[in-house]
Amino acid sequence: MITLQGKGVSRGIAAGRIVFFERSNFVVEKKAVTDTAGEIERFRAASLTAAAQLDDLASAMADKVGKENALLFEIHRMMLSDTDFTDPIEKLIESQRVCAEYAVTEAGGRLAQDFAEMDDDYMKERAVDIRDVSHRVIAILSGTQRDVTAGPEPVILASDDFTPSETAQFDRSKVLALVSQAGAESSHTAIFARTMGIPAIIGLGASLSSGLANKEAALDGGTGTLYIEPDAATLAGLEEKKQRLAEENVLLEKFRGKPTLTKSGRKIKLYANIGSVADVEAALAGDAEGIGLFRSEFVYLERDDYPNEDIQYESYRKVAEKMGGRQVIIRTLDIGADKEAGYFGLPHEDNPALGMRAIRICLTRPELFKTQLRAIYRASAFGNVAIMFPMISSVQELQRAKRIAEEARNELAAANIAFNDKTPIGIMIETPASVIISDLLAKEADFFSIGTNDLTQYTLAVDRQNASISEFVDTHHEAILRMIRMTTENAHKAGIWCGICGMLGADVSLTAAFMEMDLDELSVEPSYILQLRSRIAET
Ligand code: PEP
Ligand code: MG
Repeated sequence: MITLQGKGVSRGIAAGRIVFFERSNFVVEKKAVTDTAGEIERFRAASLTAAAQLDDLASAMADKVGKENALLFEIHRMMLSDTDFTDPIEKLIESQRVCAEYAVTEAGGRLAQDFAEMDDDYMKERAVDIRDVSHRVIAILSGTQRDVTAGPEPVILASDDFTPSETAQFDRSKVLALVSQAGAESSHTAIFARTMGIPAIIGLGASLSSGLANKEAALDGGTGTLYIEPDAATLAGLEEKKQRLAEENVLLEKFRGKPTLTKSGRKIKLYANIGSVADVEAALAGDAEGIGLFRSEFVYLERDDYPNEDIQYESYRKVAEKMGGRQVIIRTLDIGADKEAGYFGLPHEDNPALGMRAIRICLTRPELFKTQLRAIYRASAFGNVAIMFPMISSVQELQRAKRIAEEARNELAAANIAFNDKTPIGIMIETPASVIISDLLAKEADFFSIGTNDLTQYTLAVDRQNASISEFVDTHHEAILRMIRMTTENAHKAGIWCGICGMLGADVSLTAAFMEMDLDELSVEPSYILQLRSRIAET
C-alpha cells in the first residue's frame, strides 16, 4: 500500500479504480475541405469503427456490469446509424465544405442540445448519449483519447489539475472522487466538487503519477489521504469512518425542515450555493431554505457557445420553479480569471484575476449582459428570484449595471412579457473597495452577499489559484473579519440584509462570530446546511 497526502477539499470516503483524465484536447478546428464526398466517406468509416468498438464493449461489459447496463452500448451503436444523427452531419460537410470532425461537433452538439431541452426526463438523458457517441466518432477521426468519464463504471478521476469547465462537464454518476496534483482550496474545482458532494483531494503533487493509472485506491476527502492498493485494515478503517459519518448525518436529520434559529431565537437564512439546474436536487436534499448563490457562469461553461436567452431562461425558470417559492439569487455572469470559456475569446492577461472578469465583461459587452438579465427577469415570473452582481467595486459600476437591468425590464414590458418588476437587485461584496464604500453601495442595493473567496484573495493579495502560497492564506485574518463586520453594519444602517456566500460561511469555527456580527444569511454548499443549522442552534 502507498499512502499519499494532499489537501482534502470535499469530505467523503470513496474507493475504486484510478483513471487519469484524458483531456478532450482535440480542439476541433473548422477546416475547409474540397473533397466533400471523401469527407463523408471518412465520417462513415469512423462510424463503422465506432460501431465495432461499441459491439466489443457491449459484450465485454455484459459480464462486468450486467446485460441491462451493457445495453447502453447497443443504444449508442444504434444512434450511429440513425439518420437523425447522420443526416445533419453529412449535410453540414456538404453545405459548408467542412471537415468531418467539425461537422460531428456542430451537428452532434446541436442534436444533444435539442434533447437536453426536452421536458421528458428520459429524452433529456439521451443528450449525454449523443455527446458520448459524437465524442467517440471525433476521437476516431482525430486519433485522440476519449473522455475517461465516458466509461461504464464510476472511477476515481485523477489529473494534474481540473479546470472549472472540465469539472462542470463531468458525468457526475461516473466520478467517485477527484484527485489532483495541483489545485487550491478555494478554486472553483474544489467548490464544484463540494457542491456535487464528490469527495476530492488536491495538492497531491508529482507522486500522483500516471504510473498509478488503473490501480485500486481508496481515499478520505476530509483528511486528504489517498491510499493506493489499500490493505484490508485501511479499507476496514475507512468503512468504519464512512459509517460514523452516516450516523452523524442521521443525528443531524432532526434539524431537517426546521427554521434556522440561534439560541436567542434570531432567524437566519440558510441558503445553498449551486452551479446548475442539476444542483437543485442537492440543495433540496440538503434542506436549503433558498439559493443564495447560483453561479450562472456554469450555464455558459457547460457549453461550446453562448447560451441564448431562451436556453438561459429555461435554466433559471427551472431552478425558480423547483425551489417552489423559496428565494433564488442568481448571480450574473462571473466569467474570466480561472473560469474560461474559449468562445468568449478573452485575450491572454498577465493578471487575469485583476483583469477582464465578471461585471467588467458585462459592462463592456452590454448586449450579452442584457440577454442574461432578460432571461433572469423572465424567470422571475415563476418564482422568488433575485439578481446579484459580482465584483462590484464602485457606485458607478452598480449604477451602470442597474441601468442595463432597467433597459431589460423596459424591453420586456414593451413586449408584454411577464416578469416581477420588484425583483431585488443585490451585490456581492468581494473587493476591499466595496467594503470601504459599503455605506454608499447600500443605498443602491437591496442586499449584500459577501464573497469571502475573492475578498480574501484581493485583501490579502493571495492568488486563490496558487497552491504554493497556501501557507499565507489566512482565511481567519483579522482584516477579513473586520471587513465582514463593517459591511454588515453598513448594510443594517441602510436597512438592507447582509449575508456570506463565500466558503467562510460554512466554517463552523466562525459561526458564533458571524452570529455576533449579526449576519442575516449564510449560503453554503448544500451538504453543509444541516450541520450549520445545528451549530447556529447552539449559538
Ligand atoms: C466568492 O468569491 O466568495 C464567491 C462566492 O464567488 P466565487 O467563488 O464564485 O468567485
Ligand atoms: Mg467571487
